Amino acid sequence: MQNSPSPEELHAFDREHFLHPWHDMNAWRGYDNMLVEAAQGIYLYDETGRKFIDGPGGMWCVQIGYGQAEMAEAIAAQVLKMPYASPFTNVTQPGAILAKKLADFAPGDLNNVFFTTGGSTAVDTALRAMQFMNNSLGRPEKKMILAREKGYHGSTYLAASVSGKERDVTKFDMESRLVHFLPNVNPYLRPDEMSVAQWCDAKVQDLEEAIAQLGAENIGAFIAEPILSSGGVIVPPEGYHKRTFDICRAHDILYISDEVVTGFGRLGHWFSSQAVFDIEPDIITCAKGLTSGYLPLGACIISDRMMERMTHRGEVLFSNGYTYSGHPVSCAAALKNIEILERDNVLAHVRDIAPYFQERLARLTRYPIIGDARGAGLIGCIEARLSKDGSRLEDERKIGAMIDQACHDRGLIVRPLINMCVFSPPLVISRTQVNDLFDILGQAIETVCEKFDLTP
Ligand code: PMP
Repeated sequence: MQNSPSPEELHAFDREHFLHPWHDMNAWRGYDNMLVEAAQGIYLYDETGRKFIDGPGGMWCVQIGYGQAEMAEAIAAQVLKMPYASPFTNVTQPGAILAKKLADFAPGDLNNVFFTTGGSTAVDTALRAMQFMNNSLGRPEKKMILAREKGYHGSTYLAASVSGKERDVTKFDMESRLVHFLPNVNPYLRPDEMSVAQWCDAKVQDLEEAIAQLGAENIGAFIAEPILSSGGVIVPPEGYHKRTFDICRAHDILYISDEVVTGFGRLGHWFSSQAVFDIEPDIITCAKGLTSGYLPLGACIISDRMMERMTHRGEVLFSNGYTYSGHPVSCAAALKNIEILERDNVLAHVRDIAPYFQERLARLTRYPIIGDARGAGLIGCIEARLSKDGSRLEDERKIGAMIDQACHDRGLIVRPLINMCVFSPPLVISRTQVNDLFDILGQAIETVCEKFDLTP
């Protein structure tokens, strides 16, 4: 048998051939990133056997934790029984059962599931459905999309076009003709003299003004993450979701709730739109936690009301076509993942432990470099701030990476985003493990404070 490549060889193969998502590859190639050899529960292990808490839970997705043998068995059984059948012409058992499950979990009349390969393709499907609907209704001008600064919806052409992170918009061609961005909703950015309630009024007004300026007859959809996750875990002010939803309804603008991160228990519910934010969107998109990341899968769940508007003389006209829509093995993985989440009462566990997680998170503002610590459910973010007037911006921008390194040295992975670090651990995290995560994070922040000659 051939020897497996050494860690050094693996690093070399990776550096020379593997293009990693959203990375400056020159910077990536400048040092050896962590080689993950194994994973169990909430932990990752490197090639030396060193153990790390997986703070980001993969990429906000490993809800049930790693190493669940039942997942391996369900996946293997489906591969052996029937690994693939064309979704264009066939019904499959895992696909049909999963579609029914998602329709049951989704609020109101969101009963129609189009399976995709991940979050980006779910968002693309949602936006294409909006286009299709309005073309079919004979109002082809009603297709502009309202999105938000700092929103992230994916990396396919249309999904990237509605993503409002400033990164790379100068290097790619985006579909800017169709998209209008609303200003940042982050309450942390409000002026000192403004209350959160006033901030909420201002953000709702941003939407109203955009509609007045562009004309409701030209706007097809508003796309919004319940919590803007990749943009820095931005939790809009209380009441914002419902008020913006009502405005969209009043103007016949479809509301697309992108629950790729917030779905499947992250906020203690299958979906957060209705359970947490009291809205019943026209479309929900989801992915990630749907399979706990064991296999790729996404879904775009469309309301009956919208489907009816895409039906002509009893014939449903909308479709979209992916070879791997409802891939039987991915659907089997999702079904087992859901079975584990239900059997082990994981959503109730999240609702139970989240207040403590958020309390530990909030305490981090005691460190002088932490300007804000925010989150919801089992998602958190710390944002560093060195001076209010922005005079130390350059130093501030390094802090995410500095905290990340200090955490890594102590056995915790976080995800640095410029001056922020975000984390969304596996949902099965215990109270003791929550303590471990925040103890390490606190120590790491303390060492970074010392580097800036600041002490709590
Ligand atoms: N929507 C949201 C809210 C996301 O966070 C992401 C990924 N981080 C996506 C869409 C895109 O999902 P994917 O990477 O699976 O295409």
